[in-house]
Amino acid sequence: MKIESLLIHGGVDGDQETGAVSVPLYLTSTYKQDGIGNNRGYEYSRTGNPTRFAAEKLISDLEGGHAGFGFASGMAAITAILMLFKAGDKILLSANVYGGTFRVLDKIFLNFKLEYELVDTSDLSQVQAKIDPTVRAILIESPTNPLMQVTDIQGIAKLAQDNNILTIVDNTFMTPYLQRPISLGADIVIHSATKYLGGHSDLIAGLVVVNSSELAERIHFIQNATGGVLSPFDSWLLIRGIKTLGIRMDRHLENTIKINQFLLKNPAIDKIYYPGQSDHQQADIQEKQANGAGAIVSFELNASYNVNKFLTSLKLITLAESLGGVESLISHPASMTHAAIPLAIRQQLGIKDNLIRLSVGIENVDDLISDLEQALTAAQGVI
Ligand SMILES: *Cc1c(COP(=O)(O)O)cnc(C)c1O
Repeated sequence: MKIESLLIHGGVDGDQETGAVSVPLYLTSTYKQDGIGNNRGYEYSRTGNPTRFAAEKLISDLEGGHAGFGFASGMAAITAILMLFKAGDKILLSANVYGGTFRVLDKIFLNFKLEYELVDTSDLSQVQAKIDPTVRAILIESPTNPLMQVTDIQGIAKLAQDNNILTIVDNTFMTPYLQRPISLGADIVIHSATKYLGGHSDLIAGLVVVNSSELAERIHFIQNATGGVLSPFDSWLLIRGIKTLGIRMDRHLENTIKINQFLLKNPAIDKIYYPGQSDHQQADIQEKQANGAGAIVSFELNASYNVNKFLTSLKLITLAESLGGVESLISHPASMTHAAIPLAIRQQLGIKDNLIRLSVGIENVDDLISDLEQALTAAQGVI
């Protein structure tokens, strides 16, 4: 099956018993047992729930993995993955990784002596230089948030395999519709399904896909032991959202390409970060490993424009955290998504105060461009 069909019929397709075309929502905590040690595949809903299983099987099918796991949030999924490791192990991390991933490592896992180090993973030689016997995993995002740096997933996976290290890819920005890291050699794929997979800004969810039965067993143990599971209702909503991922992404991409062209021509914009732009440093790698450049575009506003005035003058585009919904959302990374990262590191990473991140929605693109235009006019020359 091609991905467009898999999005709709993958995982558990409807209900065998009744013929319902929508997967049933099992709101139950526990399951009747038919005798001692004799259950029908389910015992307790932290351990397993049929609706959650349908979402887990669906993401596993979409990513081409061995098994999938549903968590209460992207951060719960990342936390579960980090529990694969122990004190003294080290994780190499893409330098401008999601702020929450940095925070959980820096403020929580470091207390348990799980070490981390930030590396520019877009440069394979820098990654190679950081590999020592304590390094147990490389956790990458590609493209990164918000500077849209691209990492060669295949190159990282090769380096990791040669050193017996796990490759973990946060695939939130691309989704399996555009990029399938397991086919590029990754061991584990993570999603904040809150974003494109859910797609409607109405749920918080995290997903994990692994490429082997050994990892599946370990993640299932962690999921059950620590309990950050995805609820049946959110699993059901997520499955519903995923069905339209293909058509949503097509429109997201189409709109983003037009907005990128508008920004390129606009003197108010000093710099644009979008891997679909031919002068982007890793445009060729993006083209090789994904079926599109995604729908997040970041840009720096010229000093003669007031950032706050611009953001507050938008009428259609919403100033908010998050991304990947049908509605266009805009954010100010330095004070919002990346506020948890200390100023010095933020500056070193290049997340400036005039940097703006736009998650392009699926509205009419002319309406979006008009909104950007009027807000830029309002912000010009305002101190
Ligand atoms: C949002 C996000 C997360 C965290 O996911 P939540 O669902 O908000 O917990 C992790 N990684 C990336 C790339 C994200 O955008």
